[in-house]
Amino acid sequence: MTSLNFTCLDDYDPNALSVDRARQLILDTLQPVVGHERVFVRQALDRVLAEDVISPVDVPAHDNSAMDGWAVRHVDLATEGDARLKNIGTAFAGRAFAGKVGAGETARIMTGAVLPEGVDCVVIQEVVKVEGDTVIIPPGQRREQNVRRAGEDLRTGSPAIAAGKKLRPAELGIIASLGIAEVLVRRRVRVALFSTGDELCSIGTPLFPGAVYDSNRYTLWGMLTRLGCEVIDMGVVKDDPASLEAAFREAADCADAIITSGGVSVGEADFIKQLMAQLGEVAFWKIAMKPGRPMAFGRIGTEDQGAWLFGLPGNPVAVMVTFYQFVRPALLKLAGVSPVTSFPTFAARCVEPIKKGKGRTEFQRGVLFQENGEWCVRPTGHQGSGILSSMAVADCFIVLEPEREKVGAGETVQVQPMTGLV
Ligand code: AMP
Ligand code: MG
Repeated sequence: MTSLNFTCLDDYDPNALSVDRARQLILDTLQPVVGHERVFVRQALDRVLAEDVISPVDVPAHDNSAMDGWAVRHVDLATEGDARLKNIGTAFAGRAFAGKVGAGETARIMTGAVLPEGVDCVVIQEVVKVEGDTVIIPPGQRREQNVRRAGEDLRTGSPAIAAGKKLRPAELGIIASLGIAEVLVRRRVRVALFSTGDELCSIGTPLFPGAVYDSNRYTLWGMLTRLGCEVIDMGVVKDDPASLEAAFREAADCADAIITSGGVSVGEADFIKQLMAQLGEVAFWKIAMKPGRPMAFGRIGTEDQGAWLFGLPGNPVAVMVTFYQFVRPALLKLAGVSPVTSFPTFAARCVEPIKKGKGRTEFQRGVLFQENGEWCVRPTGHQGSGILSSMAVADCFIVLEPEREKVGAGETVQVQPMTGLV
């Protein structure tokens, strides 16, 4: 296969990668998977649009009223003092007024009703006085006020939604508003995952001495399912070359991407490295971050036949942090989402001090709250990379930049809310 382009970059140092650089290297390497299917509007929720949706109609289809009121010709209104117009009928939503509004005339009009011919202004009913057949309009009305023109939302032939958009409820509504019943979406990304480690025990079996239950497969399954991936769970694989090789080959045959956890830390990396060199092309990175320093990224198999590999660290919090920072954007790119944007952060006041070493980005777990209208954040306590409960109670990451050292109580920090991310 062709060499992964990042391995030949001049300033590429796998032992000192920043979070942003690592993410960019991954994104630059990947291309969206090929394949699509046509689905009904409701099935398209959270799927990635494969072609532009072009509006086959004007939305709205007709000039219509934005308010309940009186349909008038602006030229008939007095610039000073009231105008007295004759009531000639009513325009309802879905039942147009058949006639034309001529000089000195007005028609009652409801929200959404088609604008009668001649009308260029709607006066809200609250300011109007009615005396018998006479309708009294106060001065100060503007031409085109409360008027919605045909095509002002979407024009016939114009792109309504661009390919690459992950469809949310608003887009489903737009598709429906165009009268379209089915759309072309990209196929889901297939992701195979397995956990590595001789100490791992699957749920449903008793713990043997020194064992821990495998939790990573469950957090990963949850995160992947939320992202809309097709998940192939391959279980726990022992730290033994033959079993690992078999697992990698099987995964590469059936998936677009493989996610493993464990086995990339310094003590274990050497024998995995040897194996990877035989199976494909994988880089082992030391990323300037905490948690989640060691990570492997590359390809198992060939360019045409094979799968991308994300070798995540074993510690449960590190798995989640590296997933959100690297794997999530990567899978969005593979899924055809365009553009892949970074997740927003905002400033909040940290109410407790935080210890931090210089030189790497830290993703601490925090809980957001409001005090006197200001957003504040409290760290969740013990921040060890094995303390999964810190993720469970958290609703945000406190993102501490590499240059930053300790944080004093009351200082401003950047937070990345988990809402929408997780
Ligand atoms: P490793 O990266 O393989 O050295 O693992 C680092 C730590 O994470 C060790 O304490 C492992 O026992 C733990 N660990 C690895 N994989 C899992 C898993 N799937 N579930 C829970 N803990 C794990
Ligand atoms: Mg291990």
